[in-house]
Amino acid sequence: MLLRHTTADVAERSALTINPAKTCQPIGAMYAALGVHNCLPHSHGSQGCCAYHRSALTKHYKEPVMASTSSFTEGAAVFGGQANLLQAIANMFALYNPDVIAVHTTCLSETIGDDIVQIIGKAREEGKIPPGKHVIHANTPSYVGSHVTGFSAMNKSLVTYFAETTGRKRNQVNILPGWVEPSDMRELRRISRAMGINPNIFPDTADVLDAPHTGRHEFYPRGGAPVAEIRHAGDSRSTVALGPTASEAAALALEEKCGVRSEVLELPIGLLATDRLINALRHRSGIRVPGFITDERGRLVDLVADMHQYFYRKRVALFGDPDQLVSLAEFLVTLDMRPVYIVTGTPGKRFETRIREAIGDAVPEVQVRQGAQADMFLLHQWIKKEGVDLLIGNTYGKYIARDEDLPFVRFGFPILDRVGHSYFPNVGYMGAIRLAEKILNAFMDRQDRNAPEEAFELTM
Ligand code: SF4
Repeated sequence: MLLRHTTADVAERSALTINPAKTCQPIGAMYAALGVHNCLPHSHGSQGCCAYHRSALTKHYKEPVMASTSSFTEGAAVFGGQANLLQAIANMFALYNPDVIAVHTTCLSETIGDDIVQIIGKAREEGKIPPGKHVIHANTPSYVGSHVTGFSAMNKSLVTYFAETTGRKRNQVNILPGWVEPSDMRELRRISRAMGINPNIFPDTADVLDAPHTGRHEFYPRGGAPVAEIRHAGDSRSTVALGPTASEAAALALEEKCGVRSEVLELPIGLLATDRLINALRHRSGIRVPGFITDERGRLVDLVADMHQYFYRKRVALFGDPDQLVSLAEFLVTLDMRPVYIVTGTPGKRFETRIREAIGDAVPEVQVRQGAQADMFLLHQWIKKEGVDLLIGNTYGKYIARDEDLPFVRFGFPILDRVGHSYFPNVGYMGAIRLAEKILNAFMDRQDRNAPEEAFELTM
C-alpha cells in the first residue's frame, strides 16, 4: 500500500503537483535528436540532467543512448555556459565525429540565460564546426512543458535548421510521426509505402533504439533520418503530421519556410484514426487501398466483434501524453468501453476539446484534466471515489494498480519494467490488434485469478 495516504476527497490545488503525469522537456528533445542519422544529442547543463535523460531513455528502450553534456559546475552556473559549450563542440567533433550535434538546454542554462544561437555562431567563427557538419539547438527548460513539448521543439528545429526548397518538387510526402516507438516509425514507413507513398520520415528512431544485435558496437546505429533527407523536406509535395502536440509546430514551420502544405492528424492508434491516415495517404497517391491492408483492417474488426462482450461498458482510467490519449480514448469508445478519467501533465491547447471530439457523447461522465495539477495523485483520487475496471498508462501507474488491485495495461512513455513496446507497433490496424489483445488479456488474467475452482474455465 505505497499510496495508502491518498484520499478520495479531491481538494483543488493551484501550486502543488504530486507525482506528475509527465517528465522533463530535454528527454523529448534527446529522443527526437536520436532520430537523425549520425546525430549526437548534447545536453547544455549539468551532468546530472544528461545522466537522468539518458537513463530514462535507456530504461524504456533497453538500448544504450549516446549523448554528451556541457558538464556545468559552479563556475558555469555563475558566469554562463558559453565556454563549456564551445569546448564541448570542439571535443565532440574531434572525438566522436557526428554529422550533427543537437544541443538542447536545461533548467539551469535557461535560468542563466545562455544564448545558444550566439554560442553556435561563435563556434562557427572560431572554426570549431568542421565543414559539412552541423550544430542545431532547441530551447527546452523543464520548468515549462514536458517531454512531448521538448520533442516538438527539436522536431521544429530540424525544419528550421535543415529544410530548404530548390523549387523542384520531389515525389515524396513528409511524414512527421510524432512521439511514437521505433516500431511505430517502421510501421508508418510500411503503411505509407503500401499506400503508394514515398515517405520522408523524420525524426525516425527505427534502427536506432531498436537496432539489431550484430556483435559489434556501433556508436551511431544505422537508422535515423539523414540530414540530406530532412533538407529535401522542403521539396516534398505535402506533409502529414501525426499528433498535434508533437508534430504540428514542425509542420507549420515547414509550411511557412518552404510552402509545403500540411495536414495534421491524430496519431493513427485504433481503428478510426488509422482509417483517417489511410484516407489521407490514399488521396495523396491516388491508388486503391491494397488488399492486404484491407485484410488487416478486417482482422481488427473481426477481433473487436468477437470479443465485444469482454470490452462492453468497462470503465477505464487513462494517463499519459496528449496525442496518445486522444486516439486511445477514441479506440476505447470503438470497443464500447468507457474512458471515464483522463489526465495528462503536458500543457497545451485544445486537449480537452480533442478528447471530447474523440469520444463524442458516448461517455458523458468523462473527467478530463490537463496541466501541472493533472497528476497521478488526482487520478488516484478519482479512482478511489468511483472505481474503474482497467488502468492504462506508463509504468508509473503500477503503484495505483497495485493499491487498487486493478488490471493494468502499460502504454506510453516510459515503460521501465516490461519489453515489447519498441518491437511491436501500436499504430495502424496491426497495432490496434495488439492493443486490443493486451486489454483483453488483462481482463482474462484477472478473471482467471479471481475465478473459484468450479468456474475456472479452460476456454474464454
Ligand atoms: S527538471 Fe531541469 S534540472 Fe531537473 S533533470 Fe530536468 S532539465 Fe535537469
